[in-house]
Amino acid sequence: MKTYDAVVIGGGPAGLTAALYLVRAGVNVALLEKLSPGGQVLMTEEIENYPGFPKPVKGYELVDKFVEHLSGYEFARHSDEVRTITAQDGGYVIQVGDDTLFSKSVVLCTGARYKRVGTPGEEKYLGRGVSYCALCDGNFFKGKTVAVIGGGNSALEESLYLARLVEKIYLIHRRDEFRGNKCYQDKCEINPKISILRSTIVDEIKGDPFKGVTAVALTDVKTGEKRELPVDGVFVFVGFEPVASFVPADLTRDKAGFVITDCEMRTNLPGFFAAGDVRSKNCRQVATAVGDGATAATAAHAYLENLNA
Ligand SMILES: Cc1cc2nc3c(=O)[nH]c(=O)nc-3n(C[C@H](O)[C@H](O)[C@H](O)COP(=O)(O)OP(=O)(O)OC[C@H]3O[C@@H](n4cnc5c(N)ncnc54)[C@H](O)[C@@H]3O)c2cc1C
Repeated sequence: MKTYDAVVIGGGPAGLTAALYLVRAGVNVALLEKLSPGGQVLMTEEIENYPGFPKPVKGYELVDKFVEHLSGYEFARHSDEVRTITAQDGGYVIQVGDDTLFSKSVVLCTGARYKRVGTPGEEKYLGRGVSYCALCDGNFFKGKTVAVIGGGNSALEESLYLARLVEKIYLIHRRDEFRGNKCYQDKCEINPKISILRSTIVDEIKGDPFKGVTAVALTDVKTGEKRELPVDGVFVFVGFEPVASFVPADLTRDKAGFVITDCEMRTNLPGFFAAGDVRSKNCRQVATAVGDGATAATAAHAYLENLNA
């Protein structure tokens, strides 16, 4: 079994920063990432608020800079998905792809993702009309009709963004009132391209094997009236959830499932740290993920030094 002093799980901004700090501190570290490094930044067209880049920087260009920064250092990398983490012998046994690793400490940086709404057809047409990222996929629907599902700020903001590209938007919300900011609501109300359907649920996303999404089947929850609207795409914005289904069951999490840490990124489990979007916090951004990664790595290093003292 391969053995490390620290493993960093996830190669987004938090994980890449944690790995950089740990390797520079001389720790025997492995970075485990199931895809290419970069995380959600790769889904971001341009970033305008990351310090040091006064002009907007493309998401992939920022990731290239992070990866380049690490390229001069020698450390282990596993390009596979972590499936389980189990506490054992004062450390953690990690199943990554077909490999089993042991590490004295873990820095969890697996980020977060948009929640599924759970409607029939959602998984079937994912990437074929169903999307969770207006910025990434909006261009595919230029001049077309789309449905947006959700009632918070993301749904409202993304509808306003999509309205610049598409011909028509049905903004569908299951409740009477939106949760998002009043200023976004007002902008949606007056936008001629946005038609708001309140108290309405999507029963099914319909499609065809060749064309992808073709329609949404709806129910008005007040009147019970059912109808179908032809659409070319469906954007789902019903919240954000942590990517942490495989962590030890006794790791303390908040109501939404995000991992609770102290200000040093320590969790309730010894030698187990969490950084970035996966942890319970208010501001989920590249700058905060980077800060968390540096803090978690420093705390993990101190933990390892204590073990060896
Ligand atoms: C569309 C969009 C636009 C955004 N725009 C901005 C912006 O303008 N400015 C800004 O500051 N922030 C922006 N953000 C937010 C920012 O991208 C995130 O806050 C940041 O990427 C979080 O970094 P992270 O390292 O915590 O997680 P992530 O970036 O989510 O990275 C997590 C990594 O973990 C990996 N992983 C997950 N599970 C496993 C597993 N089981 N095994 C191995 N690897 C795993 C994933 O593949 C991923 O690479 C945006 C996000 C999105 C989606």
